[in-house]
Amino acid sequence: MMMEFRNEPFTNFNDPANKQAMQDALAKVKAELGKEYPLVIGGEKIFTEKKVKSINPGNIDEVVGIQSQADQELAEKAIQTALETFKTWQYTDPQARAGYLFKAAAEMRRRKFEFAAWMVYEVGKNWGEADADVAEAIDFMEFYGREMLRLSEPQPLVPLAGEDNRLTYIPLGVGVIIPPWNFPLAIMVGMTTAAVVSGNTVLLKPASTSPIIAAKFIELMEQIGLPTGVINFLPGPGSQIGDFLVEHANTRFISFTGSRDTGLHINERAAKAAQKQIWVKRLVAEMGGKDAVVVDSTADLEEAATGIVVSAFGFQGQKCSAGSRAIIHKDVYDVILQKVIEKTKALQIGLPEENYAVGPVVDQAAFDKIMNYIEIGKQEGTLVAGGGAAEGNGYYIQPTVFTDVKPDAVIMQEEIFGPVLAVYKAEDFAEAIEVFNNTEYGLTGALYSNNREHIEYARTRMHCGNLYFNRKCTGALVGVHPFGGFNMSGTDSKAGGRDYLLLFTQAKLVSEKL
Ligand code: NAD
Repeated sequence: MMMEFRNEPFTNFNDPANKQAMQDALAKVKAELGKEYPLVIGGEKIFTEKKVKSINPGNIDEVVGIQSQADQELAEKAIQTALETFKTWQYTDPQARAGYLFKAAAEMRRRKFEFAAWMVYEVGKNWGEADADVAEAIDFMEFYGREMLRLSEPQPLVPLAGEDNRLTYIPLGVGVIIPPWNFPLAIMVGMTTAAVVSGNTVLLKPASTSPIIAAKFIELMEQIGLPTGVINFLPGPGSQIGDFLVEHANTRFISFTGSRDTGLHINERAAKAAQKQIWVKRLVAEMGGKDAVVVDSTADLEEAATGIVVSAFGFQGQKCSAGSRAIIHKDVYDVILQKVIEKTKALQIGLPEENYAVGPVVDQAAFDKIMNYIEIGKQEGTLVAGGGAAEGNGYYIQPTVFTDVKPDAVIMQEEIFGPVLAVYKAEDFAEAIEVFNNTEYGLTGALYSNNREHIEYARTRMHCGNLYFNRKCTGALVGVHPFGGFNMSGTDSKAGGRDYLLLFTQAKLVSEKL
């Protein structure tokens, strides 16, 4: 009997044994930095001339790994391999397909610290953030494995005398998986394994800033014996092979998580039927956010201030769910703002390896973009914390807070994806909710309030995919908080929920007259 799904617990690093285990894992991984990683197509490991160095954003002299890059010829080879493999994989017993996910989850659980250590080096997560990322990856595999078992059971239909009717969920075909770098293990693993356990074969094109952690996952899937050709590993520049894969006539679906602009671009490309294409491509697109924490006059002020700071600056604000706006009722504004400034200034900045609260942003392009938004913020509001680069041999930026911003200010509207918080003073509760809804996004939101009427008002009026009361707006748990947003935040796929695998399947009804 399969055990009921339960979330993987987070590691307590105050326990000396866990602290030691993490330090050992960091030392082990450090000794392995700088190696070369191949593409993997149908099990064949291919090293190419064109390579990209993945560097540690917290210490930019350190090369995490060197990743071979695909070109269009190799992308074509990968598509043909995935097509060939689909012929058998689609008929593999769903129980057996789920079994690969359970085995991979067990193996990842055994090597939890090591996988976390790779993320500390490759994207600059602190220990807690990296550990949560691994836990989520394990959760996705455990959850989607069970979901496939559920979907493969006889589905309820209205009985009709004289007929045997059955509905089954069959896979779609060859899919292209395009994950972001900010949850380089969890989201990449979730998107890939959901497609694969549903019976599809895939091309996995990791984000350019986090290919090595993906390469480690590919090694793990080889180790647990996943048949070759089911997941084909195809790192390469999004702008070149990305378009090629999306437009290809044999591509049946695209599962994308990333920015609004890339998502819209892919949507447009995928909509155009290629010559000899015989289906409408399916697109799952999860995109950006301009999320906010709203604080009502009845809120617990200490908890609200903590929630604002954690939501804004966890992983340097580089979460789609990051609370980059705080909308505070005027009656508690001064007290909350004071607390937010104090808590922000108390955050220690430094090397992720040494587990500082705040680390670097992911690369030079992100650093430049965020610094530019900070300059815009200086025009649009009053700087009350941070406001510039921080010390260190990497892309460090001070957690930054602006006040006195207008609802339509650029820093209240655009996703900055960095440690920048805009604070707005609301005249009353209704205005606070109006300002919350005043963006093109709709991913996450939080409300701190102890007024029951206001909570009920917000339940239906705050328009976002994931709404939280009296807690931070980041940190969705698989199965507990299915995740996905409205409007320009994407197609509301609800990753980690019961509807998710339906996106990678199609329902077939067979009716037999008896
Ligand atoms: P991005 O859009 O720059 O890149 C995402 C992926 O798309 C990468 O793998 C990239 O290589 C690829 N890509 C780029 N151009 C492409 C093209 N023309 N064709 C195909 N693929 C292409 O985003 P990012 O910087 O990696 O990630 C950050 C963004 O992701 C933020 O906007 C964040 O809000 C969003 N995000 C959303 C969710 C969610 O669940 N809604 C979760 C995590 C991150």
